[in-house]
Amino acid sequence: MKKRLEILIQMQKIDTIIGAKNILTNKLPQQLNSLKQSLKDADETVEITKSEMDDNLKEQKLKELDIANNNTKITKYKNQLLTIETNKEYKALNSEINHLEKLNSEIDDDLIKLMEIEAELKERMDVEKQTQQKASDELKANEKRLEIEIQEVEKEIINLKEQRNNLAQDLPRDLIRRYGSLIKKRNRKAVAFNENNACSGCGYTIRPQVVIDIRKGNSIIYCESCGRILVAKL
Ligand SMILES: [Zn+2]
Repeated sequence: MKKRLEILIQMQKIDTIIGAKNILTNKLPQQLNSLKQSLKDADETVEITKSEMDDNLKEQKLKELDIANNNTKITKYKNQLLTIETNKEYKALNSEINHLEKLNSEIDDDLIKLMEIEAELKERMDVEKQTQQKASDELKANEKRLEIEIQEVEKEIINLKEQRNNLAQDLPRDLIRRYGSLIKKRNRKAVAFNENNACSGCGYTIRPQVVIDIRKGNSIIYCESCGRILVAKL
């Protein structure tokens, strides 16, 4: 019986390690995904700013074109002024020239605003490119390592399970089944120990007679509250 208890204690030690490794199998891929996501986000942010800059430059070109067209018209009208004969026609043309010049001055104001926005976008882009570079460097520096670690942890878990299953071969089937069900249902702790006359798994007070039985180690004793296998020491 003592041999069985020792085996159970060994199995529990292995299952505790498996539990820690299981946490890593979740954590490591999460770390990797978060690095990939950061780069993706940074890429997208840069793309958005890039498209805003493209739109801004297109708008500037259109405004410049408008100004150039208006200037062509102004020059043409000014030449026409020289050949005009009636006062009425002169006034009309002159007012058209004034109108176009006013328009150009407004477009010029818009152009200046667009150029200010362009400068802000460039500054924003500089910061965003730095963030993008950092995210890319960080992914490059950690991707391979995390992938290897993930593979290693998975391999370690397989090995540990094999070790535990080898140990279990020397136990009766119903005991293995009970151990397995406790591991599943009791937070990966099937074996608990007597801790100042209480179950280390759930804290339930162990009766004095049971404390004596545990110390003797001649039988498998289960906690009366949580059902874990109770041993003297773990
Ligand atoms: Zn208990």
